[in-house]
Amino acid sequence: MSLLPRDGTAVHQFSFVDALVAGLYDGAFAASDVAAVGDLGVGCGDSLDGEFVLLDGVGYLCRANGVQRVDPTDLLPFAEVVRFRPTFTAPVTALSEKQFEALVESLVPTNNLFYAIRVDGDFDGMTVREATRQQRPFPGLAEAVKSQHESAVGATSGTMVGFKGPDVFQGLSVADFHLHYVDEARQFGGHVMDFALRSGTLTIEAYAGFSLRLPQVSSYLEAELDDVDADEAIRQAESS
Ligand SMILES: [Zn+2]
Repeated sequence: MSLLPRDGTAVHQFSFVDALVAGLYDGAFAASDVAAVGDLGVGCGDSLDGEFVLLDGVGYLCRANGVQRVDPTDLLPFAEVVRFRPTFTAPVTALSEKQFEALVESLVPTNNLFYAIRVDGDFDGMTVREATRQQRPFPGLAEAVKSQHESAVGATSGTMVGFKGPDVFQGLSVADFHLHYVDEARQFGGHVMDFALRSGTLTIEAYAGFSLRLPQVSSYLEAELDDVDADEAIRQAESS
């Protein structure tokens, strides 16, 4: 098993996190275009309406009131996906979120590449947040997260998917860990805040490539993005 990237593989990102920080939540990319370049990933819904999970090529939006399949024509303001062909697989048991992150950090050869992460498992507890639909004119992300919904459940089985990204990509992407969860019943999920993993399977793939597609919606084309001071807002909003 290796955690070195294969030649030619890349993380495909649609829009970037500083654009969200600036309040650019207009859906700009069809879910079908996102799924055309990846089968696993994370993102958010139009107008920040829910947390996006792409799992085995199927897109879901996780909201406070449940999980819905995404239609191919649904528009997403932000997504980060890969064609996931893991090169590392290991069983994992009894890990808190901090212990899980420490484990992944001990496994990867460097913090300066991208890693896609998937954990299928049974959890003793899972806390997620779901962003809620924002009204125009959109507030910035720091304001929008004040209305986010947080839910915690006890025993749950499902899948966590997401990324560990290099710190220097903060603002374009999310530095360090960014994981979303959807349960097996496809009824509960969101942006992972905290969890206790009982047992599961961890799979990882590393990527040295990064491709970024910019939005072409008018709100993006007309936005002033020269003084977005994003780091603190991202830490609050995207880090768990
Ligand atoms: Zn997220």
